[in-house]
Amino acid sequence: MATPRIWGSHARLTGPGTAILRPTTQDELVTAVRAGRHRHLRPIGSGHSFNDIASAPADSAALLLDRLNRVLAVRRYDIERPRPPMPATVGTVTVEAGITIDALLRELQSRNLTLVNVGAIREQTIAGALSTGTHGASIHVGSLSSLVVSLKLLRADGSVTTVTRDDAGHADLFRSACVGLGALGILLEVELEVVQALTLRPVRRMLTLDEFLAEGETIARTHPYARFYYFPYTDHVECVTDIPTDDPIAPQGFSHSLQRWVRGTLLDRHLAGALFTAASTVRPRQSIPAAIRLAASSRESGTGPADISWRCLTLPDLPPRHIEMEWSVPLQDWRAAVRALHTTIGPRPTPAFLAGFVISLRFVGSDGDIPLSNNYRRESLTIDIMQFHALDPYPYFAATTRAIRTATTEARPHWGKYFDLTAADLAPRYPEFEVFEQVRAAQDPDDVFTNPWLTRVLGS
Ligand SMILES: Cc1cc2nc3c(=O)[nH]c(=O)nc-3n(C[C@H](O)[C@H](O)[C@H](O)COP(=O)(O)OP(=O)(O)OC[C@H]3O[C@@H](n4cnc5c(N)ncnc54)[C@H](O)[C@@H]3O)c2cc1C
Repeated sequence: MATPRIWGSHARLTGPGTAILRPTTQDELVTAVRAGRHRHLRPIGSGHSFNDIASAPADSAALLLDRLNRVLAVRRYDIERPRPPMPATVGTVTVEAGITIDALLRELQSRNLTLVNVGAIREQTIAGALSTGTHGASIHVGSLSSLVVSLKLLRADGSVTTVTRDDAGHADLFRSACVGLGALGILLEVELEVVQALTLRPVRRMLTLDEFLAEGETIARTHPYARFYYFPYTDHVECVTDIPTDDPIAPQGFSHSLQRWVRGTLLDRHLAGALFTAASTVRPRQSIPAAIRLAASSRESGTGPADISWRCLTLPDLPPRHIEMEWSVPLQDWRAAVRALHTTIGPRPTPAFLAGFVISLRFVGSDGDIPLSNNYRRESLTIDIMQFHALDPYPYFAATTRAIRTATTEARPHWGKYFDLTAADLAPRYPEFEVFEQVRAAQDPDDVFTNPWLTRVLGS
């Protein structure tokens, strides 16, 4: 069995003595947990978080749940639940927690259904994505966690609980487990809202930074989906709006697959990766900004082909390997945060740091009262700062973090990405941090579902 690793850094998620369990059924997993042989248990998804949230050190068992990947039920509501301007919710899907988002979307598509929104990739497991508050690019919906209708959770003592959104008796457990960091137990199954499958057309155009600051939020409000990419050392922001259409989907024959492969895998992944690798080794302070400017100037404006929503909203392939840090800022501060970022990066690299990748900017809707959601009772702009894997991320992350935190006191870090805050720094940023801690103490009194990373961010 391959050692589980973090995708961005290739760091191992297990220690030398970690036991690795890969159950094929929920019963097998429950039996293994009831046996109580391991001091700590860490469920691991597909390793697409950029930090040690999923790491299972030597005294623990790593639980690989990729074989718990079935679609269990699809339920249609009698009456659709409208959510303008987004498609109406038409029912729910119940899946085992280890299914990847890609497999889930394909299964839903075969039933003419889909998720209303997805993040930029489809490699994550649904449990991993929910546990870290993974979100997409729409101000009209919250993160994937906002779509959860019910959850089935396995505790360290082997007991299994199912909690639902409308179960007032377990309201704190339900809402805490929607973004649970893998600290409240093992998700066995989740039920999520679904919408009718839809077709989108991406429309791309370049904005200046001033245009983005003036129009960005309005663009996000007037389109169901809008994402923005800021190119460091330039004044350019690419704007992609994905527009629903009734146009037929372009045929998916060999030539279409070849085009997607050339664009997504060959050019955007391998060629861009090779270009950035070369630039990182040869005079990086000159060549990295030049590579970024080249990438910005080669972006094509215009309308792309009509396609299945999730193929439009996600990358055709994984991007070149990199590390990410992401801050979610409240909307009243988003312009100040972007301006501070632009000023800190400046027109060219300083000796202090090098910005080696595009920055993704997405407006995200409120998640209601999920205690550890970054969109707890607020809409946000997420500022996703990426650094190419061959370049040092930490001076860059430190400088941009300072800039953003000077612009707003309410920035919250993405749970699945790099940050160095501790529980003492984090607690004041989440009005119901204490509720989460109470639920955690009740769910896991013996700290079975913990690791050093969780101890740092949640406390012991
Ligand atoms: C290239 C790339 C692009 C990305 N794009 C986005 C994006 O667009 N939007 C966004 O918000 N994020 C994005 N992310 C971050 C990513 O979605 C999250 O980090 C997500 O958690 C990864 O899922 P995973 O299955 O790999 O989980 P892992 O990283 O393996 O685990 C994450 C957490 O989930 C817990 N967990 C896993 N399975 C279970 C279970 N069954 N029960 C309980 N807990 C469990 C783990 O213990 C851990 O705490 C991106 C990451 C990468 C690498």
